[in-house]
Amino acid sequence: MSPRTLELTDRLYDYLLAVSLREPAILQELRAVTARHSAARMQIAPEQGQFIALLVQLLGVQRAIEIGTFTGYSTLCVALAMPEQGEIIACDINANDTAIAQEFWQRAGVDHKITLQIAPALTTLNRLLAAGRAGDFDFAFIDADKKNYTHYFDRCCELVRPGGLIAIDNVLWYGRVADLANQESATEAIREFNARLHGDPRVDLSLVPIGDGLTLARRRG
Ligand code: SAM
Ligand code: CA
Repeated sequence: MSPRTLELTDRLYDYLLAVSLREPAILQELRAVTARHSAARMQIAPEQGQFIALLVQLLGVQRAIEIGTFTGYSTLCVALAMPEQGEIIACDINANDTAIAQEFWQRAGVDHKITLQIAPALTTLNRLLAAGRAGDFDFAFIDADKKNYTHYFDRCCELVRPGGLIAIDNVLWYGRVADLANQESATEAIREFNARLHGDPRVDLSLVPIGDGLTLARRRG
């Protein structure tokens, strides 16, 4: 049998965290606070946050877009990895959850890098395009409502520069995408998104089985 990605048992996952996770105290605290939220599982996994932060450092990201902020964990991972003059446009529609995010960004001393836009993300992305910001961003993270993934991706393909990176979360959708009996709307939306992206000539691709599945798409020149 040819080599394939390992199945991650609980024991192996604990080991992975034990030998690699370097989660700053402020992120640990945000995770503990979010754990009390009824939708806590929307937060990305800590090893995924660390992976995204590493990508941000490798790419030298100065300007980023985040679609789906929630209590701010992934935004904070990106902001901590960016230089002082870095800029993040964070999109969400929920002012209550993002109030927690803002408190933690401030406490981490990175709030000056982040502009929170409380509006449907499509509206914010369209505004950025109308403001002439096509090709202005180095990185985008897509993690909001799944039915709009295709629209978010198309906008991000314009907003991110050639060579820049778009990361899309939940592309394995708790494994449901591979269960053809599952026809829930979010499952179908992600399935269609994945199939379309597979044939998209605008980007180079890798689907990384970290967290709930993270596709990395590098915009071609
Ligand atoms: N990235 C976050 C983290 O690491 O904690 C998790 C984001 S959570 C999975 C998805 C977020 O998308 C929710 O906070 C929700 O309010 C937001 N959302 C849903 N529909 C949206 C829309 N149309 N525009 C912007 N945000 C939306
Ligand atoms: Ca997610």
